[in-house]
Amino acid sequence: MSALRTAYTNATLIDCVSPAPAEGATVVVENGRISEIMTGGRRPPPGDTRIVDLEGAYLLPGLWDVHIHPDYLSLADMPLADQVALFGHRLMAALTESGVTGVRCAGAHHYMDVAWKRAFDCGQHVGPRVYACGHFLTTTGGHFLTSGHALECDGPYGFVKAIREEMKNGVDHIKLNLSGGIMGPAWDRHWHSFLLEDELEAAFAICRQREFKVMAHATNPDAVKNALRLGAHSVEHGYIMDDECIELFLEHDAWYVPTLAISHLTPTQADNEWERRWVEQRNLAHSLCCRADAASDVHAAWFRKALDAGVKMGLGSDIRPLKDAALLEMGLWVKDGATPWQTLVAATRNAAAICGAGADLGTVEAGKLADLIVVAANPLEDINNVRRLLLVLKEGRIVSDKRG
Ligand SMILES: [Zn+2]
Repeated sequence: MSALRTAYTNATLIDCVSPAPAEGATVVVENGRISEIMTGGRRPPPGDTRIVDLEGAYLLPGLWDVHIHPDYLSLADMPLADQVALFGHRLMAALTESGVTGVRCAGAHHYMDVAWKRAFDCGQHVGPRVYACGHFLTTTGGHFLTSGHALECDGPYGFVKAIREEMKNGVDHIKLNLSGGIMGPAWDRHWHSFLLEDELEAAFAICRQREFKVMAHATNPDAVKNALRLGAHSVEHGYIMDDECIELFLEHDAWYVPTLAISHLTPTQADNEWERRWVEQRNLAHSLCCRADAASDVHAAWFRKALDAGVKMGLGSDIRPLKDAALLEMGLWVKDGATPWQTLVAATRNAAAICGAGADLGTVEAGKLADLIVVAANPLEDINNVRRLLLVLKEGRIVSDKRG
């Protein structure tokens, strides 16, 4: 008997390939991968396989959050080593408490995302799969400066040198800031673009030359179009767009990560228990809430237009703590008009594809790595049922068991 072979029987399977859940499914996991999927009540012969009866619960791919940051703390608030440890704790909690098995970083200082990626990959700690970017590259007087995650670069060679440094330090992709944001000082506005043309061209050119994907923070039509024309792999936020932006997304087959949480999670907009609790704990400055409230409707409208036009989209939250972030963002997608199915696909199959991991992860299919979750109720009926977590598997190993 091989201890490494386990059959999860009596599952209601949402494989994130086909939208119809399959009842009475068995998913066989062996050496970290899904070796076989049986439907119609079939199961492996007794004796050679460990059986875990899921009693009809819903088995689906692990969730992803493809726009994350560590907590923003100044070094005066918390020493660096403590910040690195806290980031690891947040990542591990997202895996075990919420079933987030993969994350893509959008800016971190001191390459702490690279360090945690290595720590998880070598088995030193059990955490989600991390796709790292190192710093958030912006201009002097750019966006996100108070986070400590930003590196201010100026001039074409300023950007090129910074990007080469990121590559040297082991990042997976380059995070490039093209425009302002909602959360920032008075001179940091999301309708302003920040880079000059030669800075933009040089930054994208070095990434193309070295085959590094660009994750582009772009929040207005000018920035979104520049990002898409210059070959961004994904565009983040897109708070304000126009029809030409949508056409360019389709033409370039680029990804859109809308991060609805940034404009939607304020005291006036929060309308369920989880959102209200988050808003209360976050206690965001009133002026920032006003900026978010003012941007929210336009953001929601372009999210919906992109979705309806068939733009490829992935789920990324941009908020903290990570164990709450993806779940809140999923609720917002549905609130803004996505179906639970579109939302689940964005948080699994599409998210894995954005990270270049689509061949191995993101769906429940024979041959793929067994990063899976089991939840007690159907998330296709109510997306918040993803919160009713029972089991989390990472590469075939149960890393969280809440069946009680
Ligand atoms: Zn961000």
